Amino acid sequence: MKNKYDVIIIGAGIAGMTAAIYLKRFSMNVLIIEKEYPGGQLAKINTIENYPGIKKTSGFDLATTIYEQVKELEIPVVFEEVIAIQNQGKIKEVMTKENSYQANYLVLATGRTHKKLGLPLEKELVGHGISYCATCDGPLYKDQEVFVLGGGDSALQEAIYLASICKKVNIIHRRDTFRASEDLIKKVENHEKISIFYNSVINTLCEENGIFTGIEIIQNDEKIMKKGSALFIYIGMEVENKIYAPLEICQENGYIIVDKNNETNVKGIYACGDLINKEAYQLVTASAEGANAAIALHKAYIKN
Ligand code: NAP
Repeated sequence: MKNKYDVIIIGAGIAGMTAAIYLKRFSMNVLIIEKEYPGGQLAKINTIENYPGIKKTSGFDLATTIYEQVKELEIPVVFEEVIAIQNQGKIKEVMTKENSYQANYLVLATGRTHKKLGLPLEKELVGHGISYCATCDGPLYKDQEVFVLGGGDSALQEAIYLASICKKVNIIHRRDTFRASEDLIKKVENHEKISIFYNSVINTLCEENGIFTGIEIIQNDEKIMKKGSALFIYIGMEVENKIYAPLEICQENGYIIVDKNNETNVKGIYACGDLINKEAYQLVTASAEGANAAIALHKAYIKN
């Protein structure tokens, strides 16, 4: 039957593409559906220096190389937006705006996106001082002064990491208390290289020749100009999970819960990458989860 596959992978990020490579090498009939471009968040990373085997690359180059691998294996990829999924027991039906596809198994790999601040220049300065990933970009600002925006676990955890590299880290938080865990709060409050600006919102992003140079903060109605080399924005993440609602997959804070096989509570539906509930949101972990899901899925396929 046309449009019938063993497995449909939704999302061509590093997790989804890794799963596809493994599944195809197991001789399974696999389709990838991607709404934008190969790589997802990966393609937006300026410099990658922590991916084993590749000393330094851009996210775009790594995403392109993995996509070339996918194409060389003759894995079909359609660039369509999934608008609905139906679980009909053994068969899962995936509807896009243009077509309808069927498979026995699904791998959900649609990732998540960083919430944006929404200030003018934010978009233009990404990769030029504005970042959503301290692990990726922090080392570029060694011995320099940087800002972290947010008061959750991510902001505080990344501020502590940045303080191990940078000269000084300023946390900007809109309220007078953090929502992060107590241990992280104690660590940032007692850290000699971290300053905290409570009750503060960023009013303006400053730049010179297209490079971020600092921020204007409003703290208790007072305007403060602060110079710095980078701003790391950690104001939460958005998981792309709306289309999964009818499947009744267990989630925690919007993140999909999986077992050790990367299988969800719904039989035959696996999930990997940044949309699952986990500790480390890294390229290597996303890729490993894609492989893990594929291996487990293939074992289940052979058994049935
Ligand atoms: P989060 O907990 O939602 O925190 C987002 C922070 O950004 C909050 O402090 C919020 O302020 C602030 N914020 C939101 N919108 C803002 C805006 N427009 N301008 C300025 N500030 C804004 O997000 P997260 O820290 O990324 O964590 C997400 C989830 O992952 C949480 O459940 C967290 O516990 C979990 N996580 C866990 C760990 C860990 O266990 N080690 C590490 C990272 C993340 P308000 O507080 O005023 O709302």
